[in-house]
Amino acid sequence: MKALGKYSIGLGDRFGHQGNAQLMAIIEAGKKGIEITPVWNKSNREHITIGTEPGDVRKEADTVTKNLAFTKPYFVDADHINIDTVDRFIPGSDFFTIDVASYIGKKADEKEIQNFIKTVEKYSVKLQIPGIKEPFKISDSQLLEIAEKYLFAAKKAGEIYRKIESSKGKGNFVTEISMDEVPLPQTPVELFFILKMLGSEQIPLQTVAPKFSGRFNKGVDYVGDPLKFATEFESDLMVISFAIKEFGLPENLKMSVHSGSDKFAIYQHIGNLIKKHNKGIHLKTAGTTWLEEVIGLAESGGEALTFVKDIYSKSLDKIDELCAPYADVIDIDRTSLPSKNVVSQWDSTKFADSIRHVQGNKSYNPNMRQLIHVAYKLAALKMDEYFKLLDKNEKTVSKCVYENIYNRHICRLFEIK
Ligand SMILES: [Zn+2]
Repeated sequence: MKALGKYSIGLGDRFGHQGNAQLMAIIEAGKKGIEITPVWNKSNREHITIGTEPGDVRKEADTVTKNLAFTKPYFVDADHINIDTVDRFIPGSDFFTIDVASYIGKKADEKEIQNFIKTVEKYSVKLQIPGIKEPFKISDSQLLEIAEKYLFAAKKAGEIYRKIESSKGKGNFVTEISMDEVPLPQTPVELFFILKMLGSEQIPLQTVAPKFSGRFNKGVDYVGDPLKFATEFESDLMVISFAIKEFGLPENLKMSVHSGSDKFAIYQHIGNLIKKHNKGIHLKTAGTTWLEEVIGLAESGGEALTFVKDIYSKSLDKIDELCAPYADVIDIDRTSLPSKNVVSQWDSTKFADSIRHVQGNKSYNPNMRQLIHVAYKLAALKMDEYFKLLDKNEKTVSKCVYENIYNRHICRLFEIK
């Protein structure tokens, strides 16, 4: 079976230029004793916006691993696919994130719901999960509610999984199920019964991405109570361990944290808890490599700085259009965005510091950072010019990409000194 390692990171590289710098960060962590499996992920939405094909991600991953003589496993993730979008991802991908968010809340057949409830009756009244102090009290109505909310989605996941399996063959790819792009978080109890449903569908699930409490806005820090998150995260870890035993799920099933980049407030908790329980983790980063490209170009000055200032200026004009598809995953205070005139006076340092995620820096502006994050479409409209600038300033840009992944993410999460 193609198995994902204990630690893995989902690397987004929207424009396909930074695979080398990303992999160097992974290799450096390996030298420090932290083996991380790189997974290059790109969603259908990103492919459509930029005009790339899933095969391009495969080409990039194969090329950079060959160039850096990286002989350990790596994967290409068909990120957030569903039954309608999976087809063109099948040839080049060996990791599939099956997104069931849009199926949650749709009801399965009454008969299927009743059958499911019969199979979980033994957990009702009192559900004791090893490692969680208090047992959960489960009422019949709560069980029915969970079945009505999630069973259809789990069955759909099975259907999508089998579609992929029929062309790739059993054991030749990693399967993740994601439910993070929904308005409400799943509780540990819900996660337990969802895993039961996925087990019944015989999906060899290796990672699962629930929605956690708090906000996971793109490219900025966690918003919420980190201690509350830690309690929920630990319960979820215990649920996964128990579900592996109870439902025959793969031994290496682990948690996947989506929009996981930049959530510095909770990294220490995640790091401590996976160490405490000897668990793995998949951290999926949210396309922030594009932000590092903007920062690197700003630092490069001259025409490169002019180019990114222009992107910012246009992003102000098109703010509604750019933000609409990301409404649930960004929080921009428009009154805190600097005006075009102000930014036009900025030098390299001021522009780069405003976007770079260093909270102690007085210039750092998370509102501007989020707006640029969703503005990658504007660079895609001037792709030739953008790629020329990236090539010309490669050294500066790849240094930014590397330092972001290695210093700000890997070192913090895995406590590398
Ligand atoms: Zn996601």
